[in-house]
Amino acid sequence: MKAMVLKEISPIENEPLKMEDLPDPVPGLKEILVKISACGVCHTELDEIEGRLPPNLPIVLGHQIVGRVKKLGPGVTKFNLGDRVGIAWINSACGECHFCKEGHENLCSEFRGTGCHVNGGYAQYAVVSEDFAYLIPKIFSDAEATPLLCAGAIGYRDLILSGIKKGQTLGLFGFGASAHIVIQIAKYWGCEIFVFTRGEEHRNLAQKLGASWSGGPEDEPPRKLHCVIDFTPVGETVPHALKVLEKGGRLVLAVIRKRNPIPPLDYARLLWDEKEIKSVANITRRDAREFLSLAAEIPIIPEVQEFKLEEANRALILLKQGRIRGAGVLTMPD
Ligand SMILES: [Zn+2]
Ligand SMILES: [Zn+2]
Repeated sequence: MKAMVLKEISPIENEPLKMEDLPDPVPGLKEILVKISACGVCHTELDEIEGRLPPNLPIVLGHQIVGRVKKLGPGVTKFNLGDRVGIAWINSACGECHFCKEGHENLCSEFRGTGCHVNGGYAQYAVVSEDFAYLIPKIFSDAEATPLLCAGAIGYRDLILSGIKKGQTLGLFGFGASAHIVIQIAKYWGCEIFVFTRGEEHRNLAQKLGASWSGGPEDEPPRKLHCVIDFTPVGETVPHALKVLEKGGRLVLAVIRKRNPIPPLDYARLLWDEKEIKSVANITRRDAREFLSLAAEIPIIPEVQEFKLEEANRALILLKQGRIRGAGVLTMPD
């Protein structure tokens, strides 16, 4: 199969992903072989490539995979040949520790990420345990479904963890793939949304999707916000986000790594009054399942920008520069 392979940590500008021919993977016990049609690109892949979240090398990146079941390993009972399935970031967890047993499999010490600990979707094929694949609702095209599996599912988790209630005010810092899905759920739940982002184009998209206000990351919104989700990879947004937060409000940090440190926080001005900060780590299968059905119900049809598999480096450079409108998706050669 054709695959874009990462062999060493490097700035994305050096175009470290190389096209290679790899043997087709073989499905083991209770695994399915998926012929991939589309795979989303994600900020996490930039973190992996540039070493902030080092993957097992060499690796095929990509954890927003949509394709069709091509082969069944021994003992598979949940899928049939030809089923359209998705594979997300959660590739496996131990199933036995107290995190797994209490519904926090995202925090399992044995958590393995697709395209980080095992090969992912920047390729024509991938294998996955049948327990970690999801049927994709008919309403979405292959490319449209890919961002739902990470940007969407984790955005849904961010929203749940923010504790937002119907009719409350929600702030979003940064307006990339995840935020443009979150805004649609929040709108559906009757929340009022305020978007903080530098790009004019991103602000326009935010307004189009129902933001009642948009401005720069340092601007003052017309009201205090009950919950804020910070999707940006930079540290400086944290004090700004805390400043616009209502008393007792919660700030959710939605990225795996900040590229630069969070500046010192003035306790009296920014944290007192029972403000909270919470980070988000990984997703559970439940997040993916609940979100896929919610997305079909609303419905949320993500805006995608398609690239060919061999253009993966370019897609990631554009992602780093904040120049992808909606979500970037790689489409596979036949
Ligand atoms: Zn992702
Ligand atoms: Zn576990």
